Amino acid sequence: MGLTGGIGSGKSAVSECLVAHGAWLVDADRIAREVVEPGSPGLAAVAAAFGPTVLGPDGALDREALGRIVFADVDSRRQLESITHPLIRAEMARRIAAAPADGVVIHDIPLLVESGPRPGYDLIVVVEAPRELRLERLARRGLPREQAEARMAAQASDEQRRAVADILIDNSGSLDDLRARVAEVWLELLQRRDAAAGA
Ligand code: ADP
Repeated sequence: MGLTGGIGSGKSAVSECLVAHGAWLVDADRIAREVVEPGSPGLAAVAAAFGPTVLGPDGALDREALGRIVFADVDSRRQLESITHPLIRAEMARRIAAAPADGVVIHDIPLLVESGPRPGYDLIVVVEAPRELRLERLARRGLPREQAEARMAAQASDEQRRAVADILIDNSGSLDDLRARVAEVWLELLQRRDAAAGA
């Protein structure tokens, strides 16, 4: 199952709640960070390709410095992706293989819709909330409005996401409302899993 939603829609809140119900989470963002964490072969390869300026004094990746290089130059971006994407794919495959046989596996993919035509998920769950509410929630989390708006502008629209959704989670209410809705969705996911196993 693929889980997606625009920034601030409540995707992380939903995935946390699904994990509490027993889902097995494959978190794309987290894996992308892990493959370049300090001491990793991924980070060593990135530093070898782009030079020591992409490392901070603590030896961790300096994302801003790397960003300045790769956002200015398509070839650099491709080079970075040629290092990180295979590592990310391998780690995702490992995480999927480690899932329990009857597990409900959830892929948290922020840019699922943006990355092209509907990829191979059995089911796509989309979280949505009105734009103003998302901006307010993000501001409360410390993300300035202009930055949040810039990211939203670079992401797919609600309509584009809705067009691929099998299940829509409306997160315009309270966190309790969200938990209640996720509990329903969890039951539906279990039913679908059992139906698929029986088929
Ligand atoms: P995303 O992962 O989609 O960017 P998050 O799950 O991190 O979004 O939610 C954005 C912020 O809004 C977080 O600080 C979260 O705690 C808060 N939030 C999410 N859903 C609700 C809700 N229903 N009511 C109040 N705050 C919420």
